Amino acid sequence: MFQNTREIRRDSPVAVIGAGIAGAWQALFFAKAGHTVTLHERGTDAMTQATSHWAGGMLAPWCEAEVSEPIVTRLGLRSLVLWREQVPGTPFNGSLVVAHPRDRSDFERFARMTSGHRRIQGDDVSTLEPSLDGRFREALFFPDEGHVEPRRVLPELHARVRAAGGRIEFGSAPEPAEIDGLAIDCRGLAARDAFPDLRGVKGEMVIVETSEIALSRPVRLLHPRWPLYIIPREGNRFMIGASSIEREDEGVSVRSALELLSAAYAVHPAFGEARIVEIGSGLRPAFPDNLPRIAIRDGRIAVNGLFRHGFLLAPALAELTLGYVARGEIDNEVMQCG
Ligand SMILES: Cc1cc2nc3c(=O)[nH]c(=O)nc-3n(C[C@H](O)[C@H](O)[C@H](O)COP(=O)(O)OP(=O)(O)OC[C@H]3O[C@@H](n4cnc5c(N)ncnc54)[C@H](O)[C@@H]3O)c2cc1C
Repeated sequence: MFQNTREIRRDSPVAVIGAGIAGAWQALFFAKAGHTVTLHERGTDAMTQATSHWAGGMLAPWCEAEVSEPIVTRLGLRSLVLWREQVPGTPFNGSLVVAHPRDRSDFERFARMTSGHRRIQGDDVSTLEPSLDGRFREALFFPDEGHVEPRRVLPELHARVRAAGGRIEFGSAPEPAEIDGLAIDCRGLAARDAFPDLRGVKGEMVIVETSEIALSRPVRLLHPRWPLYIIPREGNRFMIGASSIEREDEGVSVRSALELLSAAYAVHPAFGEARIVEIGSGLRPAFPDNLPRIAIRDGRIAVNGLFRHGFLLAPALAELTLGYVARGEIDNEVMQCG
């Protein structure tokens, strides 16, 4: 085990603990940099114990700027480059933001609070998404945003870790003290032993299936309580998400399910005939400031607090962690040393 930070060496073997989106990207960066990497995951390769399993997978730094600090935008923009570089084929079809006439002021506010979009009128909305023909007179189009399907991209990232020479051990939950080399703790909410101020913010979602609608990109519907969205998945499926509730219980309330399904129905009535495939929830790991953190302490590194931006931020956080280990670079906005 490392005794202190200065003993982290460039040629150390690296054990990444937790194979969710944060750990997968850390393992990939360190394996590609030539380290001997083992990625440990307590669960199975189905990854159902990870918050990442439940995520929407939107890569949307411009839309998220409405509710996030500039650091999320900065790291998010860098991550888009890294997704393109490291996972070619990641869809970058943009995002659409729509609102009902009664939520007009929310729409204008969203337009003011964000950048990287252009206003498009009904005909252009239909050109982009023929299924939405005639449904919205105006939309905001964020052309450079992307989205991934978490349950497909996690195995893909794991395969890339192996291809880069790394090992992955499922059903493995080593004690940090057992680690020989550098430990990178990416345990998400399970890291509360190290971070008592970590909390879970519940996000509920529904997956439905219908062949009546086709979408090429996430569609966000402005809503007074939550940012609601519909994300296309393979096989005529759509993820409808997500609530944001300061509670750590499991399951989905009737109220949330009604709101999520009503939002989809409001975007297109054909969702009323869709088949419900799954209803579930995940807990977003968050620090009190809702910002991500790379904590460097006692010779270990922990990457946590990815909150509602894990897929957006994980690549940039991995790049920063590697930059610290390889070259001693410190990003004061994200890193906490000691
Ligand atoms: C409904 C919902 C929608 C979301 N949508 C988006 C989105 O559109 N875009 C976006 O960027 N983010 C989104 N998020 C946020 C994103 O899911 C999280 O930020 C991200 O999943 C956190 O990743 P993580 O790797 O830190 O944690 P996790 O995904 O929870 O991974 C931690 C892993 O560590 C493992 N582990 C724990 N303890 C141990 C141990 N002792 N040994 C070994 N392994 C261990 C766990 O089993 C788990 O697999 C959403 C979240 C929710 C809930």
